[in-house]
Amino acid sequence: MQTDTVYDIAGIGIGPFNLGLAALCQPVESLQTIFIEQKPEFSWHEGMMIAGTTLQVSYLADLVTLADPSSKFSCLNFLRQQNRLLQFGIHESNYITRAEYNRYCKWVCSEMDNLLFDTGVDAVFYNDSMDCFELFCKSGTGSTIIRARYIVIGTGTKPIVPAMGREFVGRQLIHSGDYMYHRKKYLLAKRSPLLAPAKAPQRLFTIYYRAVMTPSKK
Ligand SMILES: Cc1cc2nc3c(=O)[nH]c(=O)nc-3n(C[C@H](O)[C@H](O)[C@H](O)COP(=O)(O)OP(=O)(O)OC[C@H]3O[C@@H](n4cnc5c(N)ncnc54)[C@H](O)[C@@H]3O)c2cc1C
Repeated sequence: MQTDTVYDIAGIGIGPFNLGLAALCQPVESLQTIFIEQKPEFSWHEGMMIAGTTLQVSYLADLVTLADPSSKFSCLNFLRQQNRLLQFGIHESNYITRAEYNRYCKWVCSEMDNLLFDTGVDAVFYNDSMDCFELFCKSGTGSTIIRARYIVIGTGTKPIVPAMGREFVGRQLIHSGDYMYHRKKYLLAKRSPLLAPAKAPQRLFTIYYRAVMTPSKK
């Protein structure tokens, strides 16, 4: 990374949103882009990586296909690289598992050279004299200023716990987004955590209920 460069685009956060943008920008040679992520590597809702659960949308809604069906960063190309295309194609399902989606995104990351991990963006200012944004970034190795003409904020959403449940978080209550981190503890205790609303609470409840009430189906 060159700190004296003024990039055309700096993306803040590398989740599916900005990773899709990074993948679509990659073939455009005239664009200088950089994408910055505070986590050490890509990870997508790993607290909800329940075995066998799938995305709720078709594989066609991957990072790139609906914008550029010819992109090499498609989910189908990922499956081909993994020698899984034939298996997936005859499976009669449009839905890849959440774990496979996470692997697909990690594969896209591994094909890119403009992603900066382990670096949090602490503040953004506009520098009038240079006519660009300045991003004040911090990583384990120190602080950097990254400059760009445009910024794209892809910092995602935070899980919401309703006010009435906040004092119980970490004890009787877990958010479904953290399910995998607490699963063993609650299954062993055979106590029912309340699951705060997220995308698929009913699915989690069914899995949890079966595991506790009929341990043979865990
Ligand atoms: C608990 C939970 C479960 C979900 N489950 C599903 C699901 O099953 N299916 C579905 O389609 N959608 C789900 N979603 C919606 C989710 O928002 C999208 O799936 C998708 O992750 C959004 O992508 P994104 O890139 O906008 O944000 P995110 O995936 O949230 O990525 C944002 C990234 O920005 C980084 N970041 C934040 N601030 C900074 C900073 N200052 N500097 C550097 N990096 C920063 C974060 O570390 C993160 O990696 C869920 C959301 C939550 C909260």
